[in-house]
Amino acid sequence: MQSGKNGTMPAIFFGHGSPGNVIEDNFITQCWERLGREIGKPKGIICISAHWYTRGVRVSAALRPPTIHDFGGFTKEMHEMVYPAPGSPELATAIAERLAPLDVELDPARGLDHGSWCVLWKAYPDADVPVVQISMDMQMPPAQHFEIGKLLGTFRDDGYLLMGSGNIVHNLPEMDWQMRDGSFDWAARFGDYIRESIVADTPEKLIDFSAQGRDGTLSVPSPDHYLPLLYVMGARRKGEAVRFETPLVEYGSLDMTTVVLGG
Ligand code: ZN
Repeated sequence: MQSGKNGTMPAIFFGHGSPGNVIEDNFITQCWERLGREIGKPKGIICISAHWYTRGVRVSAALRPPTIHDFGGFTKEMHEMVYPAPGSPELATAIAERLAPLDVELDPARGLDHGSWCVLWKAYPDADVPVVQISMDMQMPPAQHFEIGKLLGTFRDDGYLLMGSGNIVHNLPEMDWQMRDGSFDWAARFGDYIRESIVADTPEKLIDFSAQGRDGTLSVPSPDHYLPLLYVMGARRKGEAVRFETPLVEYGSLDMTTVVLGG
């Protein structure tokens, strides 16, 4: 499966779920490993993670981005893990230029948060592909995140993998730890609605997710984990095939669907 190299790189929305996946070997992490192998190594990775939600748009521009352990309650081992992928100040600058006239701030200190490195640890274990993260501006309406995704999608033709990392349904307070593989009805309905809208290629429904009433409010109590999906969908080519990996819900309210475009 040579989706990359000479052709257009895929765009993937990873359902990342618990940071604990990074030290597990399960159905989800095996999927991430397989995707990395199938795609091959891109020239670089442009990542929009749920865990970089800011005022204004920022791009990580460190040559050696540190590993950010932005989680609590996990093992000492996880807090000591280092994912040493390089950054790319050149790519960061190119992104800022391509998003102009949007005001984009280069951040020379920003590292990789767990939304990016916990997935990439599995997908690209050699940590030899440069990674640049872009923050999501919390003041923007959903449609604008989608439009930025469109612009970022042009990097796919240059050999860069576009990666969103979040969860279609992400409600931590509602999570039921007894429901390892179970879904609340509202989470199942909302996840199905989003997947159907992706298959039908009706991005306006994805952008207008809050029209889903209580299902939407419960599934997306804050937009940070949902919005990375809009970047990936914005990067979709006309008529481009899409497929879902691991479309299941964990703990009642954590949808682990990964969405692959062009892979
Ligand atoms: Zn998360």
